[in-house]
Amino acid sequence: MNVPLLDLKVQHDAIADEIGLAVSGVLNSQHFILGPEVRALEEAISSYCGADYGIGCASGSDALLLAMMALNIGPGDEVITTPFSFFATAGCIARLGAKPVFVDVDAGTYNIDPAALQQAITPKTKAILPVHLFGQCAAMAAIDDVATAHAIPVIEDAAQSIGADFGGRRAGSLGLMASFSFYPTKNLGGAGDGGLITTSDAEVADRLRAMRAHGAKKKYFHDTVGINSRLDSLQAAILGVKFRYLENWTEARRRNAMTYRRLFGQSGLDDSGHITLPQDSVGGRHVYNQFVIRAERRDDLRLHLKERGVGTEVYYPLPLHLQECFAYLGYKRGDMPVAELASEEALAIPIYPELKAPAIEYVVDSIAGFYSNQ
Ligand SMILES: *Cc1c(COP(=O)(O)O)cnc(C)c1O
Repeated sequence: MNVPLLDLKVQHDAIADEIGLAVSGVLNSQHFILGPEVRALEEAISSYCGADYGIGCASGSDALLLAMMALNIGPGDEVITTPFSFFATAGCIARLGAKPVFVDVDAGTYNIDPAALQQAITPKTKAILPVHLFGQCAAMAAIDDVATAHAIPVIEDAAQSIGADFGGRRAGSLGLMASFSFYPTKNLGGAGDGGLITTSDAEVADRLRAMRAHGAKKKYFHDTVGINSRLDSLQAAILGVKFRYLENWTEARRRNAMTYRRLFGQSGLDDSGHITLPQDSVGGRHVYNQFVIRAERRDDLRLHLKERGVGTEVYYPLPLHLQECFAYLGYKRGDMPVAELASEEALAIPIYPELKAPAIEYVVDSIAGFYSNQ
């Protein structure tokens, strides 16, 4: 059997006709930049997330960058974030000349540890940037307590977590701003790059709209220096079609996670100490952009699964505080022990919505086979 980590083709095949119509609609209109499809998507996603405004942009990385720019973050400023995330989370801080300050993560959720966060606050802290990793919200209540006590804005990196919630509120409405990505492997993925920022602050929304258009509130008149970062109408039209299926796909991911839990339980593997299953949302809905287990001898297991035709991925093999480009920050191995261990043990296994029960059974059997042969 062949079980890829993700199968975008099977998803596309089911909606190809609708996508084709949406694409030809834009082509017929020849309105490619920030057209009505973009406004409709901004509206749909912000209201889905429980935020007042949505601002489309060119990628999830740019969404983070624009959010930082809207807060005027730059040299001399510090932004606290997690070392266990995709590079863009810290890259956006460094690109503006500000200093990424890393604090370790929680072992169960891989999300930023609020207790460690408190200790990293300094007078230079200009923002807190938690990531809702793998589809699960960070501990936002505790993070909010720290942020409120020091009057520091929170920006959610929600690239992997559209539709996740915490305490009854959706990702995208839990901070001053939130960034989303429509990279093809995200739960709502486009046919290329795309991103969006949500906020319920009208003034921030205005600034973001100007920032994505070279800082111009009025065309050709620039109060500040922004960037060119827009969401294409073609992407917005495609995303608009896919958005209608998002809830179904999310529920299918959650069902697949339940099937994994049941089958790992039956196999005895989850009590064996060889693997640890991901925690499911202490405080809300996990949307399982990834199903990430911890595994003993992770790299050997990965090889074994590859030989059995099972696709996996390691998110992330090197924590951000140990990246070459951040050597100047002076972190060393041992500084973030939880994130460092996670980078050695974490393994993402297939969870995509169209994955069927026999394939999940095959993945679990393959993992059980690896550990029973020892
Ligand atoms: C994907 C991702 C991003 C960046 O999004 P792009 O659209 O690829 O630029 C940022 N943060 C996290 C946590 C991500 O997973």
